[in-house]
Amino acid sequence: MKKTALVCGAGGFIGGHLVTRLKSEGFWVRGVDLEFNKYQESDADDFAIGDLRDQNVVARVVDRKFDEVYQLAADMGGAGYIFTGENDASVMHNSATINLNVLDACHKRNIKRVFYSSSACMYPEYNQLDPNNPNCSEDSAYPANPDSEYGWEKLFSERLYLAYNRNFGMECRVARYHNIFGPKGTWTGGKEKAPAAICRKVATSKDGSSIEIWGDGLQTRSFLFIDECLEGTTRLLRSSFEGPVNIGSEEMISINDLARMVIDMSGKNLGINNIDGPEGVRGRNSDNRLIAEMLDWKPSQKLRDGIQLTYDWIASEVGRRHNQLDGA
Ligand code: NAD
Repeated sequence: MKKTALVCGAGGFIGGHLVTRLKSEGFWVRGVDLEFNKYQESDADDFAIGDLRDQNVVARVVDRKFDEVYQLAADMGGAGYIFTGENDASVMHNSATINLNVLDACHKRNIKRVFYSSSACMYPEYNQLDPNNPNCSEDSAYPANPDSEYGWEKLFSERLYLAYNRNFGMECRVARYHNIFGPKGTWTGGKEKAPAAICRKVATSKDGSSIEIWGDGLQTRSFLFIDECLEGTTRLLRSSFEGPVNIGSEEMISINDLARMVIDMSGKNLGINNIDGPEGVRGRNSDNRLIAEMLDWKPSQKLRDGIQLTYDWIASEVGRRHNQLDGA
């Protein structure tokens, strides 16, 4: 019998790639999302369009004892969406409701293995003030002080999943993702993240002009390529370790240096114009000691390799859009 998996948020960036991966492993896969993926046709055997805030929808999609459930659905976006404060109530209400509904439905179906994608955004701001020396070890989470309501909801939901393990004998697994990027993700419209936004700005800029970067550009982050994210995700779900554990890269880079990397790839002569904008914490990097110890694995791909693939994809999307406009 084929193993079965449910991917919540299958219309999203990570969920879309995860469905493809699970299919390649031989699973029967059901995806569920508010909408289909904009950039790729889903490989899922069954794709339900539905709102996971609605318990009736959740009961309909969690209609059997899946071998693996991946809960990736969330109301989220890049800095322009989660750090402005304008979407706080929606982010908290929508994501918490999804998690409450999905987890409880899984419990009622006696499903054991549920993966939950938390975020590095739950780490306290006070450990991320120095761009050159942030602390994101898993045990630095408390006393809690995330810099966004998005991070607070992640913290609540992490605890929710682990409470179901403790009280109901479930085997949920919790990862804290650090900036996942790659082709076939949001690259325009306001919910895109830094790597995609920078690739788009570079791809659409004329030689000799400048691209705008939010903040002074000295803020640091690390970015993990989608394939490695999926490797860590499936390894964690199938392991005996419940987490929470970081799934991220340890290759930290300033945002201006990331922009320089993309400009260099493009072959264009572009300047960088640092402007005011939402930027989040000053520094953030994954700490991979725990994942290496517990899973005997950690991400290792060079940032530049993943950025090249992402830039090439976004540049081709930009070209395709221009051609469509020209033809219209
Ligand atoms: P995404 O926005 O591309 O995907 C999330 C999907 O959830 C979307 O397709 C959206 O339509 C769906 N969704 C939202 N509300 C829903 C609802 N009420 N019912 C059904 N579906 C709903 O995001 P992603 O980058 O693929 O992230 C997946 C998960 O990983 C999220 O939980 C996110 O918080 C977490 N995460 C992502 C990153 C990252 O860098 N991408 C970093 C940390 C954590």
